[in-house]
Amino acid sequence: MFSGKTERLLEWLAVARAESIPVAVFKHACDDRYHDEELVTHNGRRATARPVASAEHILRLVGDARLVVIDEAQFFGIDLVDTCRQLAEAGCSVVLAGLDRDSWGEPFGPMPYLEKMADRVTHMTGRCAACGGEADHTQRIAPITGTSMIGGSEAYEPRCSKCFVAPPIELRR
Ligand SMILES: [Zn+2]
Repeated sequence: MFSGKTERLLEWLAVARAESIPVAVFKHACDDRYHDEELVTHNGRRATARPVASAEHILRLVGDARLVVIDEAQFFGIDLVDTCRQLAEAGCSVVLAGLDRDSWGEPFGPMPYLEKMADRVTHMTGRCAACGGEADHTQRIAPITGTSMIGGSEAYEPRCSKCFVAPPIELRR
């Protein structure tokens, strides 16, 4: 997180819109929100994203889009891999953004599989909140309570691999 990946998604959208390519934008409805949401970046760029509960909803809702953009891809199940394959076979370009490591530094959901099937992968990093180095981990800084791991900057900060400390493994979910 905090690496500018949403900004990169919006750049793809801006190019598609300039070329009048129909687009569909999705994000995972990871916290039961089902109203349209905006992807907003720090510099004010924005796009409307439709929250969906699973990858199969994407296939149902994609319509005539030729570019499908999916944010928070790490929250989807492994079936997102097959969904992306079906979209590509139907002639869609698919651009995804997501975290490749979870709060324990382990592979996150379908991300490793999506990386292997992608034509192009861009690894983006943030700045470590502890030492200022290159951050490729997400540090949980809020206590883990209940079942939800959802959170923003109040619960997570970017860390490098040296400063990252995994929470107790028994809390992994
Ligand atoms: Zn560090």
